[in-house]
Amino acid sequence: MQLKNIFKFNGGVHPNENKKISTRLPITKLPIPKKIVLPLRQHVGHVAKLKVKPGDHVLKGQMIAEADGNVSASIHAPTSGKVLKISEEIIPHPSGLADFCVTIKPDFKDTWIEKKPIPWKKLDSAQLIRALLQSGIVGLGGAVFPTHMKFKINQNQAINTLVINAAECEPFITCDDMFMRERADEIIQGTLISQTLLLAKECVIGIEDNKVEAYEALKKAAQGTSIQIKVVPTLYPSGDAKRLIYLLMGLEVPKEKRSIDLGIQVFNVATVAAIYRYLELGEPSISRVITITGTVKTPRNYEVLFGTPLSELISDAGGSSNKTKKFIMGGPMMGFDLPSIHVPVTKAMNCVIESSPELFPAPKPVMPCIRCARCADACPVSLQPQELYWFSKSSQLEKAKDYNLFDCIECGCCTYVCPSNIPLVQFYRYAKSEIISQDKAKEAADTARERNEFRLTRIEREKKERAERHAQKALGAQEQKANDEKKSTIAAAMERVKQTQQENIKN
Ligand code: SF4
Ligand code: SF4
Repeated sequence: MQLKNIFKFNGGVHPNENKKISTRLPITKLPIPKKIVLPLRQHVGHVAKLKVKPGDHVLKGQMIAEADGNVSASIHAPTSGKVLKISEEIIPHPSGLADFCVTIKPDFKDTWIEKKPIPWKKLDSAQLIRALLQSGIVGLGGAVFPTHMKFKINQNQAINTLVINAAECEPFITCDDMFMRERADEIIQGTLISQTLLLAKECVIGIEDNKVEAYEALKKAAQGTSIQIKVVPTLYPSGDAKRLIYLLMGLEVPKEKRSIDLGIQVFNVATVAAIYRYLELGEPSISRVITITGTVKTPRNYEVLFGTPLSELISDAGGSSNKTKKFIMGGPMMGFDLPSIHVPVTKAMNCVIESSPELFPAPKPVMPCIRCARCADACPVSLQPQELYWFSKSSQLEKAKDYNLFDCIECGCCTYVCPSNIPLVQFYRYAKSEIISQDKAKEAADTARERNEFRLTRIEREKKERAERHAQKALGAQEQKANDEKKSTIAAAMERVKQTQQENIKN
């Protein structure tokens, strides 16, 4: 594997990889569990709209919740069975909160719906996006952004380069590595389809130099195509899309811009394979490959149906080999502690690490910042982490914004190198959430003020209208009275004239 024509980005770190422990065994399929719990929101965007009710029988691949609008993704039954309930269940989220889920009791017949491959070569862009909206496919690298959106290109945008992200730079995670070793053909098929659909002139796969077997498998599968496979150095966070684009092409995606503004679209390897399976085989997104590693007895990779209880995955991996019962979802740099092992596997779950004090020692005492600037040297986004820390800590949120807090990708490189053991990313997360909630509160206050002003204006207008109506009515009554008086005066006068005339006739 040779590093050729690669551009090195600023910063980055080399944490212990800890990847080999989970690549000794091939990917295995986890059996159908006794219960499937499917959260209705497993993606970025609106929660999917329910299409089933308790008691319904569903088939494998049947849509049970439909994407609600464009920024949303559908959910499909991963196996056949009966819908037991729709209820709030704990989901794999740092908050530990519950969300709406559909619980299915599998019938173990695993009966598919009629699979209908999509004639994608005959579809125009709008038809293709509508078709992919039904697929349930989201970015499987962890971002879970609905994939159909990535094919939505403005007329004045053209995609020059399709980048396939095969970097998988976080320690411990090996699901993409094993997927590439075993299913390189699916990845290449999906890549070619995506390149055709995006009308991308070229396609580059970027893979870290610690994945020799995966590289060889991809190279073999890509033979005879124009796909380039470029090897990038093992350096965290090379798997961040903007960092990978820089490594491969030397192009910096400007602040507040997206890669498509430079004519580049990026997909993860497992995502393009899912595109292939949906379009060519008619199979929606119902499972994924997950790494289960750390101190479980048999670290390895599994293909797991969405909705499978995590506890079953852990127990199939030999169970816990220590008593800490602490599990991390994602990698040690960007992942989070799971609230419980009684949560379902979701589309975002690429890795679960059983933690132990040996593997992840307790944080050392936090010391004052010594202004050593190591954090700035390690920051791949060229931020000033020590300044961001200071502003976040002292709640100088406007200042933090001025120092580009929202460009921080929360990669954790600064925290990793800090000699004072300051949990820097936690401060940035806090500051970001404070700013977001203050902005929301301000927005809500502005809306409430506007509503109140509107209400007061309406009350004032109605009061005025009522007064005018009363005045009108009073004027009408006065006029009526005057008319009546006038009429009776005339009538009296006429009566008098009549009497006078009658008296004159008599005389
Ligand atoms: S690495 Fe830590 S101690 Fe050094 S400047 Fe950054 S925050 Fe301060
Ligand atoms: S967490 Fe943010 S500030 Fe720290 S190194 Fe990563 S991008 Fe830079």
